[in-house]
Amino acid sequence: MLTSPKPIAIAAPPAALAFEEALLRKLNQPGPRYTSYPTADRFSEQFDAQAYCQTVSERRAMGARHALSLYLHIPFCDTVCYYCACNKVVSKNLGKAVVYLTYLQREIAMQAALFDGMNQVEQLHFGGGTPTYLSDRQMSELMAHLHRHFQFASDQLGEYSIEVDPRTVTPKRVVTLRRQGFNRLSLGVQDFDPVVQKAVNRIQAEEDTLRIIDAARFAGFRSVSIDLIYGLPKQSLASIAQTLEKVIAASPDRIAIYNYAHMPHLFKSQRRIADSDLPAPAVKIDMLFLCIQRLTEAGYVYIGMDHFAKPDDDLAIAQRQGRLHRNFQGYSTHAESDLVACGVSAISAVGASYSQNEKTLEAYYRRLDLQQLPIARGIKLNMDDLLRRLIIQHLMCHFELSLASIEIAYPVRFAEYFAAELTQLRLLEADGLLTLDQEWISVTMKGRLLIRNICMVFDRYLDPHRTPLRYSKTI
Ligand code: SF4
Repeated sequence: MLTSPKPIAIAAPPAALAFEEALLRKLNQPGPRYTSYPTADRFSEQFDAQAYCQTVSERRAMGARHALSLYLHIPFCDTVCYYCACNKVVSKNLGKAVVYLTYLQREIAMQAALFDGMNQVEQLHFGGGTPTYLSDRQMSELMAHLHRHFQFASDQLGEYSIEVDPRTVTPKRVVTLRRQGFNRLSLGVQDFDPVVQKAVNRIQAEEDTLRIIDAARFAGFRSVSIDLIYGLPKQSLASIAQTLEKVIAASPDRIAIYNYAHMPHLFKSQRRIADSDLPAPAVKIDMLFLCIQRLTEAGYVYIGMDHFAKPDDDLAIAQRQGRLHRNFQGYSTHAESDLVACGVSAISAVGASYSQNEKTLEAYYRRLDLQQLPIARGIKLNMDDLLRRLIIQHLMCHFELSLASIEIAYPVRFAEYFAAELTQLRLLEADGLLTLDQEWISVTMKGRLLIRNICMVFDRYLDPHRTPLRYSKTI
């Protein structure tokens, strides 16, 4: 039988973090998460596979050596979680993965030929979907294929991570993943509360998750990360407090707490979630505050937006050293890497460009059958894009910006080039989200919770007269 969580004492946010209702309504606007700038909806078909190859050869001609980051997208899941907004294929037919892997291997070989001799891979990430939808044997073959085509940094130097759905793996499988070359593991948990799990169609026994964490430690994974979501149906401050206590007791190295974005007009499975079951924006702010409070009390560093890490974790060290970066997987320690992404719908970031693969399996296979890279759209960044990307990245990762550092990196006078933006920032300063002087933009603790609203000021593609339905609300 499902039981409601026991009542738990929750401290009210301090005055510095209290939001008035009117301010919340004003700031709770749709906005990008800025895993890229410009955002993916600005990509166009004019940037195609040929433009991508040209970008790589310009990179080669410059003679610069950049570490390589590889992302592999495995789109399959055997059941659907109602909240999901990922590009996935829900199927129990394991044969689909067999076909997909033959095409994925073809794409990997093509990308490797392009980058031949230029780089060594220092980061590898398997995401999905559910990467552990692949069998042990399929995973071994795929890893062997990658190692045939790319040169990898040592296990000590490289970060090789995989997203694991604890419902699909056993402790034995976790040990095998370590032998296959992975040294970081991230576990999808979302919420330990059975009522919430039922509301999102993701029933996952707490003991199974804890067993997988233990197995990861036993197998010698360097880092274990847990993903949670706040703002889910049936979630309350009390239920999230209980989940947090269990997560803290499990002691993962990193914790990501994502804001549930309810967009049923875009994601069909979200139509199974009733609006009336969702927590109100003011409660969501309190949930985020609670997460920050409890996790920082427990010794985690609040990296930003949705990420926490232990002080000795690479993410926290990178932030202290000013080399944190934000990309499609969230925060990252490898700022200078070119990101080469393989698989359906995957997005690469190479030099001053972004490119996205075809979004459906049919279109992805068709391109590869034509011996073409399956790139469907992308964008080449101009100077203004690069400048704004740097500012947004810096605000997202470090919550402050030295105006002089921008003037050193780019031929602009900040006060003139961004005169309109500074006027908008003064309004956010009046709302208590930041402070502004001649030399620095400094984000307050309150502003950290709404960092997307601050970054939106620098996004020249946002149209304030049109409601961007494709974006989630910032709260
Ligand atoms: S949340 Fe993960 S496991 Fe669930 S449907 Fe989405 S991709 Fe699949």
